[in-house]
Amino acid sequence: MEEDSSGSRTSTHPDHHQMQPIAPSRYESQKRRDWNTFGQYMRNQRPPVPLSNCTFNHVIDFLRYLDQFGKTKVHHQGCMFYGQPEPPASCPCPLQQAWGSLDALIGRLRAAYEENGGTPETNPFASSAIRVYLREVKMCQAKARGIPYKKKRKADTITALRTKRDDEQSSATSSSAHFS
Ligand SMILES: [Zn+2]
Repeated sequence: MEEDSSGSRTSTHPDHHQMQPIAPSRYESQKRRDWNTFGQYMRNQRPPVPLSNCTFNHVIDFLRYLDQFGKTKVHHQGCMFYGQPEPPASCPCPLQQAWGSLDALIGRLRAAYEENGGTPETNPFASSAIRVYLREVKMCQAKARGIPYKKKRKADTITALRTKRDDEQSSATSSSAHFS
């Protein structure tokens, strides 16, 4: 869920790539697992797709494939609970991967691709098509679940505060204004 995505991002120590870690960090092991899952998915295509031939279309298919393992209820527009964050009863709408999880996943795979010999120029995870896809998922899920953007922003503000604490201690009140 969303907590996972911001959690995995904040758990990365700012200087982790400079230091030699004793054990792989949670981020590193998660990245390795994600990369293996993606490699497995590509090998299971018929015919199997070598990673060098991987395009953003494969990546988007992969993200859709992951939805079957998702735990986030995303209501159809016709559902009576559409827009309700906490519906009082169950409904047949599908479960999907939360946008925040996909966003964090793409970030890890983008890094893993280049660490495994891919070039930034061919990196399918860095494609603008992926960004567009993720933005659509984010908007759909926000509307379907009635999540106000503020809620998400609050979590990001905490992250921003934590990383900027040292040099920007006094500007805590304005931190929600600039947020990427
Ligand atoms: Zn529903």
